[in-house]
Amino acid sequence: MSPPSSKDSHRSPSSPRTAAGIIRDAIPSITDAEIETIIHKISQRNPRSIVAYIKTLAGNGDLAKYRACDEDGTEPHSNACRNGDGNNCTAGWCKCQCHRGWWSQ
Ligand SMILES: [Zn+2]
Ligand SMILES: [Zn+2]
Repeated sequence: MSPPSSKDSHRSPSSPRTAAGIIRDAIPSITDAEIETIIHKISQRNPRSIVAYIKTLAGNGDLAKYRACDEDGTEPHSNACRNGDGNNCTAGWCKCQCHRGWWSQ
């Protein structure tokens, strides 16, 4: 059961807030590619409204869990994050961007 994919869902200038816009607000330094990755991961959960879902994640600070690890970061990283496996990272000292708090702005 795979829903028809709509590849041409570009940002509409009429809508005040888009999923990409919310993510970019939360993480100003994020790249377009990363935004696409995050939206793709979230859309796989089939939320009723992806914008509402992303807003909630951003509000809770949970958007970080969808961000990829910065494997070549210069700050301390656990082995899990070095391997791009942030879900298995339990190191409190790890400074990987996948759990860096952009909510503390
Ligand atoms: Zn990580
Ligand atoms: Zn980590």
